[in-house]
Amino acid sequence: MRYYVQDRGDSLSIDLAQQFHKLAKEHGFTLDAKSPEIVISIGGDGTMLQAFHTFTDRIPDIAFVGVHTGHLGFYADWKADELEDLIQLMAEGNKDAARSPRIVEYPLIDLEIRRKSGVSSMIALNEFTLKGVDGTVVAQVDINDVTFEMFRGDGICVSTPSGSTAYNKALGGAMVHPTIEAMQIAEIASINNRVYRTLGSPIVLPKHHHCDIFSRKSQRLLLTIDHVNLTVDDLISVKCQVSTQKVSFARYRPYPFWDRVRTAFLD
Ligand code: NAP
Ligand code: MN
Repeated sequence: MRYYVQDRGDSLSIDLAQQFHKLAKEHGFTLDAKSPEIVISIGGDGTMLQAFHTFTDRIPDIAFVGVHTGHLGFYADWKADELEDLIQLMAEGNKDAARSPRIVEYPLIDLEIRRKSGVSSMIALNEFTLKGVDGTVVAQVDINDVTFEMFRGDGICVSTPSGSTAYNKALGGAMVHPTIEAMQIAEIASINNRVYRTLGSPIVLPKHHHCDIFSRKSQRLLLTIDHVNLTVDDLISVKCQVSTQKVSFARYRPYPFWDRVRTAFLD
């Protein structure tokens, strides 16, 4: 089995990564930074975002596994002291097809960023946000090529179902079970009065719908794609839609989404 480890860079995560390499060698796994089949993230949910963005050109060929070294993670199932159990299950799954892990697939968001300087494509695991750098953002939101609203305020967040527990939650968006193929648009502090009007509620779009956000004044904007930040002053528009690709996570034991939500926010 070809594997790669992404660690958070703190001493505990680096230590665990080294332990993992040692155990992996004993089980005959091969470290492969170019074309791994399994990518192990050791750290937090942010570490999984990094691991994901390292391999965005190989999404269909990879299954991700998360080990958390801080508090519980939404993308991390395993605790630091369970590393040996995890490797054991990985080795068994590798040898015997009947014991291979369950693969769960989560939707992503495809982004097409149009600037005066060119067009680029990106993919988000958590969310895309557009925010003002110098002041109020003015943006036109179209849904399926029909003008929906003119937005004025701090910004707009478009999240995946698995990203719904992250930034989207702080904006009052709903938590969405990550097997639902959809994307959620949430406003970041919109201006609403007799002159300016936006819907004011988060909305959920199904697969095959798309949304275009057009910059409607000369403005410096901060675009975030998960943990990646881009400052642009020549944005034309950003097109968002549920991606044709999905990210795979290898589940060597069940960990239901609602258990994660309860443990993270209620227990
Ligand atoms: P960060 O500032 O360390 O992340 C903020 C928090 O979001 C961390 O506690 C992180 O967990 C958690 N998180 C990340 N993905 C999550 C998910 N899918 N469900 C629940 N919690 C999640 O920065 P980062 O680690 O690079 O993560 C970037 C993410 O931070 C962005 O994608 C965005 O969702 C989130 N964010 C949230 C807010 C907000 O809530 N107001 C503002 C900006 C960004 P770990 O500590 O385990 O990494
Ligand atoms: Mn983090």
